[in-house]
Amino acid sequence: MAKNIPVVQKVLSGNDEIAAQNRQLLDDYGVYGINMMASPGAGKTSLIEKTVQYLRNSLNIGMINGDIATTFDAERAQKAGAVAVAVNTGGNCHLEAHMIRDALAELDLSEIDLLIVENIGNLVCPAGWTLGTHKNVLVASIPEGDDKPYKYPGMYRGVDVLVINKIDLLLYIPFDMNRFKQGVEILNPGLATFVSILSDGGRVARLDSMDM
Ligand code: MG
Ligand code: ZN
Repeated sequence: MAKNIPVVQKVLSGNDEIAAQNRQLLDDYGVYGINMMASPGAGKTSLIEKTVQYLRNSLNIGMINGDIATTFDAERAQKAGAVAVAVNTGGNCHLEAHMIRDALAELDLSEIDLLIVENIGNLVCPAGWTLGTHKNVLVASIPEGDDKPYKYPGMYRGVDVLVINKIDLLLYIPFDMNRFKQGVEILNPGLATFVSILSDGGRVARLDSMDM
């Protein structure tokens, strides 16, 4: 008689399960999803506006905008040329997969190529909630200080791309770029890192191509 073999399986939590369904839905429609995270005021919405303006002629862009109380950012994305859905979390400090599922139901996915999710401004818990998007992008900014990778390791560890915004402010604000880069490298070796240049219309360049 065959002995019962114990099978150990990772049981997906409720959130992870819904996130996997979201991912499947995006894949079925050929939609590429990006989850943008940052602290409040880092410049997520401005970067999204610029991205939509640059890409709107070649890609149809959908936007899911997480906000605690307003639809300001969704309106800005809409104005820039995206089809936007606002998710008001009613005080919740991060987006969860079921909120994305409900928002996706409001979008015509057959008409969308790129989906940008703007998460709630917060460097703590958004990192712990998968949404079903393909890539996690973190927007950092110079005024936040060079110590943030050390203070919010969970966020810096979990992202696929880092954009350092407001790089022009290095001229005015004490920020040790080497200290910042070392902190990132310990947590997320080789992380693809870009800078966004305000004075150049928000142009984005690779950090390793810059002289700093
Ligand atoms: Mg915003
Ligand atoms: Zn939260």
